[in-house]
Amino acid sequence: MPLDILPSVCPHDCPSACALEVERIDGNRIGRIHGAASQTYTHGVVCAKVARYAERQHHPDRLSQPLRRVGDKGVGRAAFAPISWNDALDAVAERLTRAAQHHGSQAVWPYYYSGTMGLVQRDGINRLRHAMRYSREDLTICSMLTATGWRAGVGAPRGVDGREMAKADLIVVWGGNPVSTQVNVMAHVTTARRERGAKLVVIDPYRTASAEVADLHLAPLPGTDGALACAIMHVLFKEGYADRSYMARYADDPAGLETHLLPRTPEWAAAITGLPEDTIVDFARLYGRTRRSYIRLGYGFSRSRNGAAQLFAVTCLPTVTGAWAYEGGGALQSNHGLVALDHTLTEGLDMLDRSTRRLDQSRIGPVLTGDRRDLGDGPPVTALFIQNTNPLVVAPESGLVRQGFLRDDLFVCVHEQFMTETAAMADIVLPATTFLEHDDFYTAGGHTYLQLGRAILPPYAECRSNHDVICALADRLGACHPGFAMTALELIDHTLRASGLPGVTEFPENGWLDCRPPFETDHFLDGFGHADKKFHFRADWAALGHDHEHLPAFPDHVAVIDDGDPQRPYRLVAAPSRSFLNTSFNNTPSGIAREGRPTALLHPAALAELGLADGERVRIGNGKGSVVVHARAFDGLQPRVVIVEGIWPNQAFEEGFGINLLTSADPGLPRGGAVFHDTSVWLRPA
Ligand code: SF4
Repeated sequence: MPLDILPSVCPHDCPSACALEVERIDGNRIGRIHGAASQTYTHGVVCAKVARYAERQHHPDRLSQPLRRVGDKGVGRAAFAPISWNDALDAVAERLTRAAQHHGSQAVWPYYYSGTMGLVQRDGINRLRHAMRYSREDLTICSMLTATGWRAGVGAPRGVDGREMAKADLIVVWGGNPVSTQVNVMAHVTTARRERGAKLVVIDPYRTASAEVADLHLAPLPGTDGALACAIMHVLFKEGYADRSYMARYADDPAGLETHLLPRTPEWAAAITGLPEDTIVDFARLYGRTRRSYIRLGYGFSRSRNGAAQLFAVTCLPTVTGAWAYEGGGALQSNHGLVALDHTLTEGLDMLDRSTRRLDQSRIGPVLTGDRRDLGDGPPVTALFIQNTNPLVVAPESGLVRQGFLRDDLFVCVHEQFMTETAAMADIVLPATTFLEHDDFYTAGGHTYLQLGRAILPPYAECRSNHDVICALADRLGACHPGFAMTALELIDHTLRASGLPGVTEFPENGWLDCRPPFETDHFLDGFGHADKKFHFRADWAALGHDHEHLPAFPDHVAVIDDGDPQRPYRLVAAPSRSFLNTSFNNTPSGIAREGRPTALLHPAALAELGLADGERVRIGNGKGSVVVHARAFDGLQPRVVIVEGIWPNQAFEEGFGINLLTSADPGLPRGGAVFHDTSVWLRPA
């Protein structure tokens, strides 16, 4: 059996964007996938999900041909009949045209997210959107709150090279669980521990797999990380750990910050976070005496109404100690903005009409059910064209989302790899290629490489790439743009050259180009991203979003969270699991076997109060509804906290609604962002 080892790039929504080596068997199947050993961030390591990608690539349920729904919405494959590609594309074009004719072009909402992170196959939908003046999509569901909080202080969309974790003496993983969701971080942490005796601290509301292996774990109540960061800074100033000469040169108002922090003592933060005062002080001293301290900021603690303010508060820490200045010091949230790519061709930005309305993707439930706060004076959405996302399961307030998709007057086309629960609500379903079957290029959140991934397998059955489908629809709709006449590879080549980078033929043969800036830039020694080149302790929230009234300039605990009441005393966190990635992989046999079933981690004291034993069923609810899961006794969290890991299919729950039935579509401050971990609930025996 001929076996080739071919390079590729993981396209999934994960900061690692691993460089891969794929075993190809007989030219049309894959075996194991390995991490590329010579790419210095991936360093030969990939997660188990992708190592076993053959399970997903060759899954018997892969969509193989275009389908037209002939039965009821939500039933699944049995409610669909095959249709030719021509007929399917004609039908989609006809329905989008009809929606635009009846209500105006903004009645059509192309809707996508990060099922692939490839810039051609993910973002090409925007070229069609702009050419046709369809409604725009505000991309709020994942990184809006982190990006806004980071920008408030740092002012530039990049952080210190993740490989420097290996050179740190202290690594703080704040609001993330890399053992489960970004395994490469742990590889660099392990190097630092082995070679330098570095300490690992994890800050997370529950004892995750990463916290299990840490030297210290702090478990604040969800939504209180801003208070913790303030108290740490209080100690840093009070006990002489603040680097006043660094701040005098690199920060806007250190004296103002010091005064502001005077009342934000460890005692004050202990009452808000639920952490012991001593623990806060001990950690502050550890952080303060370690120059090479690297904070790896996750997304978890940003998924809260005050998430941007929380993230901003944490970015102030390395500025107070001056840790940014040292190799192995500073912080990173994401490096997706590191390379200034020219997206004009891929996204059709030269056709963007800024007068078209923007609809918030996290509020798809309210949008589809006609909420005027979203639609304004514009028309209802009567046609959706969806690629790369599964909003029936992943979007907040999923009861409203389902209600919207059930509308008789809504046309839906979904282009997907599997019959997701969203696809099951569609009128037309189109089969999509995987990353192994199309060309694309990728930036990364966790590292500094720009990477090229070429197709290494023929498309499965009748599957077509997102790019091909977008171009075919553009042709039928009369949309004109040079990007519609190019292959994916030509688009990549033109984009690279327009961005001042080597084109496809000059690109490094292994497919990855390290775009790390010089040390001075990487560490902001030549200035932060604001016009005055300073780190801003005084955030200009008004410049970052319209909803800034409740956000104070200095870092603080911003008490706008859903903090419960006597009827809803528990705080729910819907955290990621190790085996699923959003809803990708939640249908692979090994992942399901490892995760078991939807489960709530409950403190033994909470179980006792409910009169429940380990393994019994518990109903979790709030004003939006309730779901039933099995309870597991777990003492690695505060008694008020409830953890449900993994975005299971709605159908995995007894009553057919998943955990996002309970989460809110309220926008985080100041410019939106999904607040998945900011949910107060009640618990009852089921
Ligand atoms: S760790 Fe992340 S980027 Fe790497 S293979 Fe797994 S999902 Fe992909």
